[in-house]
Amino acid sequence: MEFQENKEFTIDILKKLVTINSVTGNESEIGNKIFEILKYLGVDEIEKQNVDNDRFNIIARVRGDKKGPTTLLTGHLDTVPAGNGWETNPFVPVIKGDKVYGRGALDMKSGIAIILSTVKFAIENKDKMKGDILIALVPDEEATSLGITTLINNTINADFGIAAEPEYIPIIGSVGKLLIHVDAYGKTAHGCEPNKGINAIEEMARFLVSLGKIPLKEHHKIQKQPYVTLKIEGGFNQYSVIVPDYCFCLVNKHTVPTETIEYILEQMQELVINMGLKAKFIFKIDEPYYEPYEIQTDLPQIEKLCSIYKDVIGKPMEFRYGTGVCDNNKLVPATGIPVICLGAKGGGLHSENEWVSLKSMFEMNIIYQKYIFSF
Ligand SMILES: [Zn+2]
Repeated sequence: MEFQENKEFTIDILKKLVTINSVTGNESEIGNKIFEILKYLGVDEIEKQNVDNDRFNIIARVRGDKKGPTTLLTGHLDTVPAGNGWETNPFVPVIKGDKVYGRGALDMKSGIAIILSTVKFAIENKDKMKGDILIALVPDEEATSLGITTLINNTINADFGIAAEPEYIPIIGSVGKLLIHVDAYGKTAHGCEPNKGINAIEEMARFLVSLGKIPLKEHHKIQKQPYVTLKIEGGFNQYSVIVPDYCFCLVNKHTVPTETIEYILEQMQELVINMGLKAKFIFKIDEPYYEPYEIQTDLPQIEKLCSIYKDVIGKPMEFRYGTGVCDNNKLVPATGIPVICLGAKGGGLHSENEWVSLKSMFEMNIIYQKYIFSF
């Protein structure tokens, strides 16, 4: 078979997508555009799955003429806000040599363009295609993963998946993320007799500075992940000299695969006891919650991708573990589908002057096509 870089199509789609502002919460316009394109390309099935208000997931399918496995191609429709410091208008794609600048050019309108290019190629060659491509594009990844959560709640089946996130060196596992809500209950007293009360804020302060004593677990590929206090609140609403009897805080903890919720909460409770704190501490887990995940590298699909990658890029495929969370943290544990993050390369991720390398997108077009037609 002759695989195609689909240069013109890819650049055209990328430019169209960057032009549409799809900052989280505002994904319906881009969703409608992509829905139209997929219909125009001639997918066999397509639907909009309602997520919240006018926000929706796009689920589509291309059926090969011959029987074979189902491959999920997935990605997110939203981007982070543009922010400041841009040299170009973030919503006007600007091409300079191999680079295309714009908000989302890399994360991950590049990935959606690669997916659409793969779909185009697959439809043109359906007679030789074994199995199906299942396409799932979702909003809200950059916030609380409402889109992928809706998708999971409606059941989804595939043998293997590729999330077209901009990971030129693919990601096969990642830390999880816990948001721990800590309440400290003390006892009020007059401010001139603080010893008669239990100062919830001071107790919380003692607790927080001691968090570093909790032993952190390690993973063979992910370094230890510290506790980070994100918010603390307590004390009067209107000035008064009263020992505060309540304080709460939010602590972020990125987790490695062995750091379960039970383990973390147990360690925190033990810390309170060992320190002899007098306030009553109550711990709970708030949303958003992301499990750590890891996919096996000895899967036949991964072995296949390794050889295709080497063929196209000219270097062996290495594996990385993510130090941040993405929709895969929801998708992989909930469905059991092994999903690798593999896509374009570039710079300015979540910051100013975001760009993607066109060459890397063309390479990914070939890798995706070769994978789909490898059965
Ligand atoms: Zn992303």
